[in-house]
Amino acid sequence: MPIETDCNKRLNPCIGIAVHSPAFSVRALAVLFAALFLAGCAASSAGRLAEDRPIDVIDAHTHCVFNNTPEKTSGIIQSKEEYLREMAENHVVGAIAHTGYLGDFHEDLRDRNVVFCYGVGDDIDEAQIEASLKSGKYGCIKIYLGYIHRYAYDDAYRRLYKLAETYDVPVVFHTGDTYSAKAKLKYADPLTIDEVAVDHPKVRFVIAHCGNPWIKTAAEVAYKNANVYLDLSGIMVGDLNQYPKELVEEYLVRPIGWIFNYVGDPSKILYGTDWPLVDMGQYLRAIKRAIPEEHWKAVFHDNAVKVFKLK
Ligand SMILES: [Zn+2]
Repeated sequence: MPIETDCNKRLNPCIGIAVHSPAFSVRALAVLFAALFLAGCAASSAGRLAEDRPIDVIDAHTHCVFNNTPEKTSGIIQSKEEYLREMAENHVVGAIAHTGYLGDFHEDLRDRNVVFCYGVGDDIDEAQIEASLKSGKYGCIKIYLGYIHRYAYDDAYRRLYKLAETYDVPVVFHTGDTYSAKAKLKYADPLTIDEVAVDHPKVRFVIAHCGNPWIKTAAEVAYKNANVYLDLSGIMVGDLNQYPKELVEEYLVRPIGWIFNYVGDPSKILYGTDWPLVDMGQYLRAIKRAIPEEHWKAVFHDNAVKVFKLK
């Protein structure tokens, strides 16, 4: 459990005001509240402007199923042109793309700084996965917990963690809610990542979607284990502009703010969208509201470079 009084890590518990001091007059208190109110107004107006300030971004969680049809939740056309257009429009200078566990096609986009994660299905072809990592065609392994009815600590997966260690690539887990009624949620509980993180300390593990809705469990696993990271993708999907603003704040912005503060280490949090389930620009603006601006460079860019060893 993180220490609530650690002021370098926790934001809210660190605001200490000596209200019990006899020297602290009511007038002084009124002046303080006025100052805090004005500071709050300035911060929120600066925040609105900051949200649109362009920064270099690496989207650590996308899918490149370029079948030229509209995605059923967001309506986004799933095409290479649209993917590259949204990247360019939002200063996305690199991305991680996961292939599906059913083995959808994979187009080499390394010249656009897109690194592919090998999506592991029911039948695990270890030799093929090793060859893919060895050739550099894939730069990580994706395991679909829940969709595939195996726990993260299944022996079949443990062999892949050895490969990840050998080739120095991360393992990304789908965790939390699933997009399929055939999936089984018990496998997608982020608590199961703790076991493999302890047993494979040299492997970097990424908990996708922060285990949503089990975000507290995911935050604890990342807080506790030096080799576990969280990706912020897909916590809300669809056309965010169609939702009431308060709903986006309640289900996306505030939970991510809570996660960021709880983990207490900006280097553990990776920005990602889950494109094409959500528009890159809409998601980026929302997540900027959740992350303090001084940590944008780490969360939106640098952390992915380190975890995925991007050039
Ligand atoms: Zn995804």
